[in-house]
Amino acid sequence: MRLPEFAYLAPEDLQEAINLIGKYKNQYAILAGGTDLMIKMKQRLRNAPYVISLDQIAPLKTIREEASRIIIGPMNTLDEIINSPIIKAKLPALRQAAWKVGSPLLRAVATIGGNICLNTRCRFYNQSDFWRLSREKCFKAGGHICHVANKMAVCYSGFVADTVPALIAYNAIITLAGAGGTRKLPLADFYTGDGRRPNQIQRGSNEILTEIEIPVPGDDEKTVYCKYRVRESIDFPVVGAAVTVKKDARQQCLDARIILIGVGSAPLEAKLARDKMVGRSLDADLIAEVAATAAAEIHPVKTDLVAPSYKRKIARVVVAEALRAAGEA
Ligand code: SF4
Repeated sequence: MRLPEFAYLAPEDLQEAINLIGKYKNQYAILAGGTDLMIKMKQRLRNAPYVISLDQIAPLKTIREEASRIIIGPMNTLDEIINSPIIKAKLPALRQAAWKVGSPLLRAVATIGGNICLNTRCRFYNQSDFWRLSREKCFKAGGHICHVANKMAVCYSGFVADTVPALIAYNAIITLAGAGGTRKLPLADFYTGDGRRPNQIQRGSNEILTEIEIPVPGDDEKTVYCKYRVRESIDFPVVGAAVTVKKDARQQCLDARIILIGVGSAPLEAKLARDKMVGRSLDADLIAEVAATAAAEIHPVKTDLVAPSYKRKIARVVVAEALRAAGEA
């Protein structure tokens, strides 16, 4: 597969990048690491006559700690996240999650911003142009049908970005910048749940992700990310789960968060499962109960090669594994 022709633009500061996206509305694509975009362009899933690289904008590559927050620039590669002493010491679950993205070659180029903005995936959509010609175009590709669940005009493509559940479990706030200025929002609110346009930028906000901000976690809480994938060496998750457990001096659970991916078009917070934990000790019985509740909260459809019933079983196993690890002192 060959790339289509495009103009490559490399602004040297953020304002220049914002001016370019304002100038080339609907005709541009933002290039971070390119591990997803280049494939989409080759598969003719993305038509962008102008590709705007953020690689020359130095402030987008920071990792620093200030005023009890960790600030991460979206243009850090996943390898840079993994190797950062700050991330290693303060946000180990983010390091775990970055480590589980793709393969070593992909992590050397793919960025955390690209992972946050990763489009949703489906076995009927993420295929070559030639493959897709054998079927009617689906909603996500601009058609009028869904090959997964042909009931209504909904796209169920799956959200599979590994770093996101860990970031949400850490209460990450992101900054978006556009012609109208900058705004901050909780990362969880960035996602729309619409498989066709799964985040606010893909919905056409004409903004750039400029910063990820995470409050430094307290010593009384622990976050863990666990993932099950078909090929351990390189694959998107069948199910991924980030769990945060905050305990009091008596080792009882004060608070918790359980964030799942691979089970819908946006990250899913298993709130009923979380509610079972508060005020209780995280023993084997409670872990089994919470994991079963989380598995019952998901409603997967067959957007990948795994049957929904199997995905529920895997969700139960992955959540239990994450709870066990997060519950350890
Ligand atoms: Fe297309 Fe349906 Fe798959 Fe969405 S879930 S990408 S509409 S086939």
